[in-house]
Amino acid sequence: MCIRDSLGMRREDRVLSAYDCSFWVSPAVLRMALQYLKCFHVEAGKISPEEFYERARAYRPNVIFGEPSWIVRLSELAREYGAWPMKLLFGGGENISEEARHIAESVWNAPLYLSYGQTESFGTLGAECERKDGYHRNDLFFFFETPETDADGYGELVYTTLARDVMPLIRYRSTDVTRLVDERCSCGLFAKRLAKIRARCDEMVVCGMGNVGPWVFEEILRDVDGVSPDWQAVVRLEEWRDLIELHVELDRSGGLNGVEHTVRENLRKRFVGFWKNYQMGLYEFRVIPHPRGTLRQSRKLRRVLDDRQLQDECITV
Ligand SMILES: [Zn+2]
Repeated sequence: MCIRDSLGMRREDRVLSAYDCSFWVSPAVLRMALQYLKCFHVEAGKISPEEFYERARAYRPNVIFGEPSWIVRLSELAREYGAWPMKLLFGGGENISEEARHIAESVWNAPLYLSYGQTESFGTLGAECERKDGYHRNDLFFFFETPETDADGYGELVYTTLARDVMPLIRYRSTDVTRLVDERCSCGLFAKRLAKIRARCDEMVVCGMGNVGPWVFEEILRDVDGVSPDWQAVVRLEEWRDLIELHVELDRSGGLNGVEHTVRENLRKRFVGFWKNYQMGLYEFRVIPHPRGTLRQSRKLRRVLDDRQLQDECITV
């Protein structure tokens, strides 16, 4: 609905998708939508932006779907080697800063729209319109609630499926914190909106590395000699790219080089998907050493911190 009525996609559009076809619902949902529109559609899968760029040049697609950080990397290549006329770029699966969005939009001279969804919802819960003031929610398929909200109206998003026979969900807790925006959008689309997701309730962080949480870094640090049990992962923004800093405490005898080498080897061997994203340049990864006993400032050490300065939500109606 949204990609046709609000974003203006038409049958004559040439669509290339770099959505990851492995254990992700978005490619299937997109395929169904494009079959309905009868667009020319190539599913590249999540190949490297370099390979995608080389192959895509022949098709000169005017609509590209992909994960936002992947699209930004592709845009960097296009800035270096040349872009072609683009109608729109569409990202799903993670959030990016407005600065990173601007890079992609300026290279292609076209808008980059973001969507919001979960695997459990089987596809998009909401998508941006041309105003990019939050996500127009799919009110025809879901009933949205935020049962407990703070003073600003933000709370955990809870949704109920309205038209699904398989795996219906009743008041499913998304663990994402947002605000229901019921004021009419100036774009004219009837569907109401969700504000930009402010945070996740748990410690899972969605970034260029992938969906990461404490267990990921625990596994990366497993069997690494010379580090204490205390560690902390911090996700920062370095220019347009996510930087994952893994802060560790080194034993007096331990050297950083050996630790860093083992950590990277563990990342490569134990998390194929995260390593693939690293090789694609979707994020930077560094191990930061600290003296033993200095990381923990209080009883509980927060394991994963998201320190990125994403653009604050700004709704203007
Ligand atoms: Zn709108």
